Parts: sequence; C-alpha cells; structure tokens
Amino acid sequence: MPTPNTSDPRPYVGRFAPSPSGPLHAGSLVAALASYLDARAHRGRWLLRIEDIDEPRTVAGAERVILGQLEALGMHWDEAPVRQTARHPLYERAFARLRDAGRVYGCACMRRELPPGPYPGICRPPAGTGKRPIRSWRFLVEPGVEIFSDRWLGPQSQDVAAEVGDFIIRRADGLWAYQLVVVVDDGDQGITDVVRGADLLDSTARQRQLARALGLPLPRVLHVPLVLDSTGRKLSKQNHAPALDVSRPLDCLQAAWQALGFPEPAAATRQDFWSEATARWARRFGIMPPPG
Ligand code: GLU
Repeated sequence: MPTPNTSDPRPYVGRFAPSPSGPLHAGSLVAALASYLDARAHRGRWLLRIEDIDEPRTVAGAERVILGQLEALGMHWDEAPVRQTARHPLYERAFARLRDAGRVYGCACMRRELPPGPYPGICRPPAGTGKRPIRSWRFLVEPGVEIFSDRWLGPQSQDVAAEVGDFIIRRADGLWAYQLVVVVDDGDQGITDVVRGADLLDSTARQRQLARALGLPLPRVLHVPLVLDSTGRKLSKQNHAPALDVSRPLDCLQAAWQALGFPEPAAATRQDFWSEATARWARRFGIMPPPG
C-alpha cells in the first residue's frame, strides 16, 4: 500500500549536483535520471547545482556541455542553476556559526604524518596545535552512532567518530571541503530529498551531523547503485569514462533506466519514456504525489 512521505512537511525539492570536471558519462546519468524521476514522481521541483568549488578540477566548457546533455535528454530544471563559486559568503557564514558554537578547530597535522583510518584527534581541544601552523579546520564530530534510513538501501548506521573522526571542512588556504558546501547548499536551496550515487552514502552521516550543527533540516536520502565498468571499477571521470553521446537520447535513457535495475525498456519514444518511467518509479517507491 503506497504511503505518502509524511516525515518532511515541506514541498518536495530535489537536485542534481554535477561537478564540472568533464561531461556527463553513463554513471552520472544514472544519478541524474534517478533524481529527476523522483522529483517528477513527487510533482516536486528539480534544481541544478554546479559543484565547481574545487576550482583546479573545473574543466573549461564542461558546465555548458553538461547542461546541453541534460537538455538533449529532455531533463528540465526548474530554476536557474547555481554555482558554488558564487556562494562563498554563505559558506563563510556557516563556518562562523560552527566556530561560534565551538564545533571547529584548527589542525596542524599533515596528511602524511597521520595513520590510515579515522583522524586520531591530535589537535582536538584542549590539546590544540601548540606552536605549529594551522593547515586545516576540522569539524568536531559527535560521539555515537548516526542512524538513518536510505529509501533505496534501507536502514543505515555509521559511528562517525570511530570510523571517520573529526573531518576537514576547510583548508588553511581557504578551500572549502565538499562535506560543508553540500550541506550548506542543500539547506539554502531547501532540498528535501537527496538522490545520488551510492559512492556518497558514506558521506551521509557526516552531512547529517553538519546539518544538525547548523540548525538545518535533514533531507531524506536515496542512493542508487553505481555503474561499474567491465573491470568492476566505478565509472567516473577519474577512470576516464567516455562522455555520454546524446545524439540518440532515448538509447541513453533506456540504458540508464536499466542500470537502475528496471528490467525492460520503458517506452518507444522519449516523451513516452518520461511518462512511463516516472509512473513506474512512483510505483516502485510507493510515491503518492500531492494532488494537482
Ligand atoms: N558533486 C558531486 C559529484 O559530482 C555530487 C554531490 C552530491 O550529490 O552530494 O559526485
């Protein structure tokens, strides 16, 4: 029996948040497709956020290519895309708030002097950095197990303190860490539902701790399986996954749809694909859209 999503009273807002480090590939399309279908099945809004905070990784022209690929596939965003590089004041304010709350400390450790595994808390207050220069700013994590439910994967838990330790949210040279900016952006954009690849499942507990510390609502999450290449590695730009060729949009959509585990092709035309796939996604997740 489908049940409406009652845990968050806000109207559904989803997002796709590509990094402009290259064009979309078959793996990133799967995440985009899932987030788009979930937003449409809920009759919600779907926003696009260009995650260009890591400027050295930004490839000139990649954003334009990504937007063109999404358009060719018939995926429409509901507001002008935002870019993280235009949002530094927002991150500054969040950082100040965490610092005022005593949840941030300067860390002098160099990566190569640390053992593998969770950060051992060497610079944690009251010990501090001594006379050594600060190299990064770490978030002071809460003890205990973070428990949440993933709409695809079911119940999840992670002991952030034991498995990750206090993590970096900003480098001394000013570079913001992904974990902080994604939480600040999701909060600012009113995102109710995060739908993305399972490689980011491991970040969710950290992001929940940050959101709580910033007084932000916790979005629901749904992590879709990763697309692997023939050697079993995640398809990614780092692994040189080929750019998605959108000259045959329906073929791209069907392949991504089947990568999500839906057995048959959804439809014979692009238009039919969207209505059929949205309806099937809604059934699969028991989504009852609001009337209207
Ligand atoms: N920018 C991230 C990526 O391209 C996605 C971040 C997220 O969805 O939270 O993998």
